Amino acid sequence: MQHLVRGCFRGEGYRFATGAFDIARACGWERVARLGSNENPYPPSPLAFARATEALASANRYPDERMGSLVEALEGAFGDYAFVTGAGMDGIIETVIRALIDHGDRVAISTPTFSFYGIATRAQGGILHPVPRNADFTIDGSRIVEESRDAKITFLCTPNNPTGNATPPGVIEEICEEIEGMLFLDNAYVEFSGIDYMPLVRRFDNLIIGRTFSKAYALAGLRVGFACVPAWFEPVFRRAQTPFALNAVSAAAAMGALADTDHVRRIVDHVTAWRKRFAEEIPFPVLPSDANFVLIDVAPMKGDEAVEALARRGVVVRSAAGFPQLGDHYIRVSIGDDWENERFLQETGSL
Ligand code: PMP
Repeated sequence: MQHLVRGCFRGEGYRFATGAFDIARACGWERVARLGSNENPYPPSPLAFARATEALASANRYPDERMGSLVEALEGAFGDYAFVTGAGMDGIIETVIRALIDHGDRVAISTPTFSFYGIATRAQGGILHPVPRNADFTIDGSRIVEESRDAKITFLCTPNNPTGNATPPGVIEEICEEIEGMLFLDNAYVEFSGIDYMPLVRRFDNLIIGRTFSKAYALAGLRVGFACVPAWFEPVFRRAQTPFALNAVSAAAAMGALADTDHVRRIVDHVTAWRKRFAEEIPFPVLPSDANFVLIDVAPMKGDEAVEALARRGVVVRSAAGFPQLGDHYIRVSIGDDWENERFLQETGSL
């Protein structure tokens, strides 16, 4: 029956960080350092627990399709912008592409970067146009502008996964001023950078900023994403979105997490302190990071070899070899809890 499957779904698909975890388990490690998926190592805020539990009592009802309470909470937290919500930022990305991309339309992506932009573009019949970053992984705004000429959407991730570096807001302005299509700015890791890009949405009607509750807010398992969009795009997004995409329990948890600003500040402080220690103590070149992970150059070893060797020692990290336009000699390591980070430092010293 394989002949029935669309070409874009016959390949490998999204790469999950499960292989290394299986190796660690097979080697008998009961407690594994899980540093492969850029998650928050700490449980969600107690306020998120409380709100989610409360919301379960009404789970017999469909959720409010506009997610009015969550949108209000987002306005309270970030200001008077137009917000849309979805099942993770992945859900937001998919809906934005569905709303704008017809068969054969072009989508530019600044590479190396997060793989889902490409997967979702191909699924929609769009044509992907990779625009490589500079050799040091910074962004050349004029090159993006030049190469995005015919693109309906350009994806730019800041701080970027997997390189970790942020792009200055001035460069984003330059791009928004010049391009004719939309710029989707992926801010999944923005809380760890200290940069606020949102005010730019007031100035540009071609800018969408994607955000997530999966990282700083510690709700990856509940799948809550949101985006700050230009006003004209809000109804378009709603028309393109799967009905009731975000469930009521997750939305309630997100409101709790949003209210607990101390909880977010603690994880940001923890990440900032460990990022510094990683840069100082890892015996390989560590690229400057504004996110909750670092990219490490393990040459002359290959990323895949380093991942396997670490997995055998009970430490799960991600090989960056699968990211197009990046060499095969990098690993991406999330900042975990103190125990996980110490384990990584210990094992990486003997690679
Ligand atoms: N963008 C980037 C850059 C990511 O790294 C991730 C998740 N790893 C996402 C978006 C998706 O986030 P979510 O969990 O909200 O779907």
